[in-house]
Amino acid sequence: MPEIRAVLFDVDDTLVDTRGAFRHALASVAVDYLDSGVDHEELVRFWRDDRHGSYRAHTRGEMSHREQRHLRANDLHVEFGGPHLDDDAYQRWDEAFERYFREGWAPHPDAAVALDALDALGVPYGGLSNADHAYQELKLAQCGLSRVPMLVGVDTLGVGKPDPRVFQLACSRLGFEPAEVAYVGDEFDVDPLGARDAGLGLGVWIERPGSHARDVEGLAGDGVPRDGLVRIGSLEQLADLLR
Ligand SMILES: [Mg+2]
Repeated sequence: MPEIRAVLFDVDDTLVDTRGAFRHALASVAVDYLDSGVDHEELVRFWRDDRHGSYRAHTRGEMSHREQRHLRANDLHVEFGGPHLDDDAYQRWDEAFERYFREGWAPHPDAAVALDALDALGVPYGGLSNADHAYQELKLAQCGLSRVPMLVGVDTLGVGKPDPRVFQLACSRLGFEPAEVAYVGDEFDVDPLGARDAGLGLGVWIERPGSHARDVEGLAGDGVPRDGLVRIGSLEQLADLLR
């Protein structure tokens, strides 16, 4: 394995417990819009499954953030008994959803531990995310993680991961060659696999509750990198990969 000298992080569900924040927002939507007694865990699973791939279309530059969320809100309502949301109704829905979503932003407890360990090793790091740059800066600040500089968002080039250009730009903004950089993220295909395919030295899959564990057969959970990929269960294991 080449020597890793810097680390790029995904933000949502890697450093920040975004799943928990979505759960909080969806629970509020359920009260005002959906069938009574709907299971909140089912709501968050449905939301994250994104049945029509609307968020991924957004990261390919094919759909605005508002368009994808409007479509997903209506998908949710079809599934769980809510009314159809036209533009005006969606505007009101989203104001409430966004308010509760932001209220739920909190860090994963292992994030600060991992950053402390990288600081102690003198390893620089930064954020590369499939959400907007300024929005992620706000989110990181609310989570007490503003020491992670946001380097590239989905709005930087108009496309997101796994497009190799966003990985390569983030490495150059960090001041390192891709082969010297590890990328850490929770979505196996767009994060560690996308990073490795973009030429980064190591793709680290952090397995979070409800992770999109597609195509990970054969990636052992023993913390040993193979073929440029490694799977960890906690960010506390990250520094050990770099020693
Ligand atoms: Mg993520």
